[in-house]
Amino acid sequence: MRNVLIVLSGPSGVGKGTIAKLLTERNENLFLSISCTTRKMREGERDGKEYFFITKEKFLQKIENNGFLEYSSHFDNFYGTPKQFVHEKLEGGDVLLEIDVNGGLEVKKNYPSAILLMVVPPSIEEVRRRLISRNTETVEQIENRLSRMEYELSKKELYDYTVINDDLLTAVAEIEDIIKKEKSR
Ligand code: ADP
Ligand code: 5GP
Repeated sequence: MRNVLIVLSGPSGVGKGTIAKLLTERNENLFLSISCTTRKMREGERDGKEYFFITKEKFLQKIENNGFLEYSSHFDNFYGTPKQFVHEKLEGGDVLLEIDVNGGLEVKKNYPSAILLMVVPPSIEEVRRRLISRNTETVEQIENRLSRMEYELSKKELYDYTVINDDLLTAVAEIEDIIKKEKSR
């Protein structure tokens, strides 16, 4: 069975982080890649756990050094996938990237064998409810994230799989089936 690179994308608030956490807890051979970001740390987050939190200067330097598999800027911040980290992890198992659609499509260009998986919500209203209940952004930031949702979803056809995150455990089981199938190809 081959080790696979899986990209998990979808609108902010759809549940990507929650799904990724469960997937890595349930599958010991699956590593979640840690991205670099210039955004502020949220309460409860730790440097080197959810993200490597770095300054904009450091981020730009890493771009110069060709240190990212892909990167993009949104919500006024930079986000990028560290190249070396992913390569090292792929030697030991499967790797999951939780990144936006532009990043996912960029990864596919460089790694055609990567599996692109789009998580979609049962409804737009449900995402609003989830973002409000997560309580990590201001109302303005939530509206900003919701306004990007249409764009993210418009790229659905370019992704290999779409999974609806209505019931969490059903979505996780569905993704596990996809990974199993892809690994044995
Ligand atoms: P994302 O990483 O896509 O921005 P999160 O994983 O942070 O989204 O999820 C946003 C909020 O929705 C969190 O409060 C999370 O607990 C909740 N959530 C995730 N999946 C579900 C689900 N299937 N049903 C209900 N709430 C969910
Ligand atoms: P958040 O600020 O909520 O953690 O993430 C905001 C968005 O950035 C999400 O859509 C997330 O998938 C995306 N993201 C996180 N890391 C990366 C990355 O390394 N590259 C890209 N392109 N997007 C990322």
